[in-house]
Amino acid sequence: MAHRRLIPGKLVLASHNAGKLREIAPLVAPFGIEPISAGALGLPEPEETGDTFIANAALKALAAAQATGLPALADDSGLTVAALGGAPGLYSARWAGETKDFGLAMARVEREWRESGSTDRGAAFVCALALAWPDGHVECFEGAIHGDLVFPPRGDRGFGYDPIFIPEGRSETFAEIDPAEKHAMSHRARAFAQLVNHCLTAP
Ligand code: IMP
Repeated sequence: MAHRRLIPGKLVLASHNAGKLREIAPLVAPFGIEPISAGALGLPEPEETGDTFIANAALKALAAAQATGLPALADDSGLTVAALGGAPGLYSARWAGETKDFGLAMARVEREWRESGSTDRGAAFVCALALAWPDGHVECFEGAIHGDLVFPPRGDRGFGYDPIFIPEGRSETFAEIDPAEKHAMSHRARAFAQLVNHCLTAP
């Protein structure tokens, strides 16, 4: 099926995270896209009630597009652990609690993985991106990077669950790898490559 393309102009980033805005702006700038943040527009953050990463990204993107009358981009991401039936998955941020304590979240992954009795260390980071238009059209893409869990956590260059994740083909964790190198190979980069490929056009 043909994908809808985004024409140059303003794009609302349906995220209140300044870090994401900084990461995304240089990726879309070459296509004449000028990102503005939902936070700067004072948009409310909808509740993430979807049951997949794509559903959550789509509901955030649609809410922002409909509230602003502009196209909007949203993402949703997390860590899925095979031996835990995909957990923490959609709850990756929530496992860190109100205080966003990822030491606690990683300790819970380790505890639940040990309790599972499984020897399967397989895990993946997944990123869904949704691009929505005010008329309700949505384009969704998903990128993943597979790897293995390692305990105890190693490295201090990343965020979230990076210290317990070793991407396939490497021996260092995501928190030990150079951040530029991580960004180039990550689930987010892979989802973005598809979005660029299908929805953006070089001038
Ligand atoms: P989101 O902001 O709702 O997408 O939350 C995703 C959560 O998944 C974050 O809080 C992180 O804990 C985790 N996560 C997503 N991407 C990464 C990554 O690249 N490294 C480490 N943790 C990640």
